[in-house]
Amino acid sequence: MKHQPIQDLIDKAESDLLHLSDTIAELRDSMYHLMEQNNQLQLKNQELTDLILSKDIYKEIDQEETSDLAANQPSGKDRLQSYYDEGIHICHEFFGMPTTKGEECLFCNKFLEELEKRDQSN
Ligand SMILES: [Zn+2]
Repeated sequence: MKHQPIQDLIDKAESDLLHLSDTIAELRDSMYHLMEQNNQLQLKNQELTDLILSKDIYKEIDQEETSDLAANQPSGKDRLQSYYDEGIHICHEFFGMPTTKGEECLFCNKFLEELEKRDQSN
């Protein structure tokens, strides 16, 4: 009888830990989705920057400044390769999702190979 409060405390602690574990799982899930969204926005932002530079929309801006900006842009393939190296899927299937640490994505690799072939044929 004397040990009952201790048993109650252990039960409560166990229940609290399980609840905390669920909360951590929810937080991890939310963080993963935010990372995915952030990656997609980063990739889209780069696409739009490229579009603006290619359309030469900034006619009012100093021409030298615009061409410097364009000259400093890495090629599309190099940029995608660096996103992939940073751990972001660039493939159509998982676009913008973070890759699992140490994971190689067959879709991303195939996409990069195709870009490489396209660059070489140009
Ligand atoms: Zn991928």
